[in-house]
Amino acid sequence: MPSRTAIKKEVSTATTAAARPLALLQWYDRHRRRLPWRAAAGETPDPYRVWLSEIMLQQTTVKAVGPYFEKFVARWPDVSALGRASQDDVLRMWAGLGYYSRARNLHACAVAVAREHGGIFPDTEEGLRALPGIGPYTAAAIAAIAFDRRTMPVDGNIERVVSRLFAVEEELPQSKPLIQQLAATLLADTRAGDSAQALMDLGSSICTPKKPACSLCPLNEDCAARALGTQEAFPRKAPKKSGTLRRGAAFVVTRGDELLVRSRPEKGLLGGMTEVPGSDWLAGQDDEAAKEQAPDIKGIARWQRRVGVVTHVFTHFPLELVVYTAKVEHRTRAPEGMRWVPIATLADEALPNVMRKVIAHALDI
Ligand code: SF4
Repeated sequence: MPSRTAIKKEVSTATTAAARPLALLQWYDRHRRRLPWRAAAGETPDPYRVWLSEIMLQQTTVKAVGPYFEKFVARWPDVSALGRASQDDVLRMWAGLGYYSRARNLHACAVAVAREHGGIFPDTEEGLRALPGIGPYTAAAIAAIAFDRRTMPVDGNIERVVSRLFAVEEELPQSKPLIQQLAATLLADTRAGDSAQALMDLGSSICTPKKPACSLCPLNEDCAARALGTQEAFPRKAPKKSGTLRRGAAFVVTRGDELLVRSRPEKGLLGGMTEVPGSDWLAGQDDEAAKEQAPDIKGIARWQRRVGVVTHVFTHFPLELVVYTAKVEHRTRAPEGMRWVPIATLADEALPNVMRKVIAHALDI
């Protein structure tokens, strides 16, 4: 038979656990972050803004997303307006935010909502998941935040808080289902969206990866990692594989004030984005093999190799590019599939960050 102390402890633990959702909401009401896409207390959230921000925030920080979000809603104030835009315009506005398949899916989703749903987002996780670019996390986030569906989306911030609160020993990503289950215990009976946003805010401002401010945390009384003094050891993670270095060459050709560019194939990495001509990006490729893939342009006697290399890290591999430059006469035609664009209007092109670095390196800008 359990002792009186053990029963007392069990009852008190259960009481504390039951009190967590309310403690979180009370904390949120006092400390919520003001974000451009977030409805103020008492305001009804706009599903368009919630969806747009959730797509932009995938693998991107709140700070980086802010200006892009403002630009998008100023130009396309609702999902139907975005659905009427061209994919090129959307890619151009997105340039610099990275992970460009998100921009293509964003546009496809806006078209689908405008055409198939009369400009109104479905209000269930299932309905949302049927749309392009909306996976399980994003569907749960939109369902909770925009429609107050009782579901808990688990992002990196929430993963960290929950794995610390319950001292989850299993490593990520295997621990995801368990974390999801534990996170759901923090949902209040009502205000599901606020419960989720409270946890997101707690993870971003208090339960930070390094040096969490536990003394300010509304859940500190029964946080297992805090009791153990091992907060920073959670979440447990399997060691990262960084990917093999790929190498290649980029060829920056100018014709007066213009630059030679082309569009990448629609499918695959940086699909549809603008780039300067370049070689394949291959592991172990030497400089000579990469240089042999230079575009064939009349009037280029020799390529100038720029000192140094441009480096960029993609999700699955790091890249190193040698940059060559050449100048051609003002009447030189662009090879098939390429075009000249004024350097002054490059900002309007859908240039991914790696290409911005290449051009800056080549032209000293
Ligand atoms: S007490 Fe500390 S480690 Fe635990 S959830 Fe709060 S901030 Fe995170």
